[in-house]
Amino acid sequence: MNLGYEGRVAVVTGGSSGIGLAAARLLLTEGARVAICGRDAARLDAARAALGGGDRLLAMRCDVLEKAEVAAFAESVAGWGGGVLDLLVNNAGQGRVSTFATTSDEDWRQELELKFFSQVLPIRAFRPLLDKSDAPAIVGVNSLLAVQPERHMVCTSAARAGVQSLLKSLAGEFAPRIRVNSVLLGLVESGQWQRRFEARADKAETREAWFARLAREKGIPLERLGQPEEPARAILFLGSPAASYITGASLEVSGGVSRHI
Ligand code: NDP
Repeated sequence: MNLGYEGRVAVVTGGSSGIGLAAARLLLTEGARVAICGRDAARLDAARAALGGGDRLLAMRCDVLEKAEVAAFAESVAGWGGGVLDLLVNNAGQGRVSTFATTSDEDWRQELELKFFSQVLPIRAFRPLLDKSDAPAIVGVNSLLAVQPERHMVCTSAARAGVQSLLKSLAGEFAPRIRVNSVLLGLVESGQWQRRFEARADKAETREAWFARLAREKGIPLERLGQPEEPARAILFLGSPAASYITGASLEVSGGVSRHI
């Protein structure tokens, strides 16, 4: 199946690591021009080197929670991409592990801001460019926590549910011009899980054993965590012209770990 990315322009926020980096790599392979952003300049440099891409890649430092930085990123993308954007992947972010008892008011505010404004600010800034495309799409990278909350990630779960509602509303408001879909992730081996592995209590436990135990404890039917390329493939499909009749949908990429029908 031809996804139809040849010559198209895509933005992946948080494209310097994990799932965003994998999505950027696949988009380049499919012939798209790709702009990525992140906060850490060294991580962006490493991603630029790893991706290659030449003038089909733009890597720019931008915190998606800083309105002026997002506006500057959009302006650069407009200049570099010919004033049009075909795909916006809102992927930047991370989860927060805390129960209600261990989540302060300030933690709540930070988490709600991260989850909502990492969608709201890029969508506002890039919408004029998306409006110039003949097949524009937005894909929100969200979590299964949106529909299956976990007590140990209470504020992330609540915020994820709100983001799912936001994306559903936007699919209606932006129709029939811009398609808006989401992926609901289970556990995917990426930067944030690597950091949790490095902070493990038992330093003697190998990486392989740590991830295998995690998959067992979480009861993942496919018996492993996902690799970043696996959600990336789902993101590319939903964002492509090949998914032309799909909007307001969410695609679960979780190794089967959800319990709902
Ligand atoms: P990584 O930590 O590997 O990548 C996160 C990326 O987002 C990095 O490029 C990071 O760069 C960037 N980022 C974080 N905050 C900001 C910000 N404020 N502005 C700009 N860039 C930012 O994690 P994943 O690949 O796992 O995460 C991708 C998305 O998937 C996240 O939204 C995450 O919450 C979500 N997710 C992941 C799951 C998993 O199991 N991996 C499960 C459910 C959801 P930098 O730090 O330099 O800014």
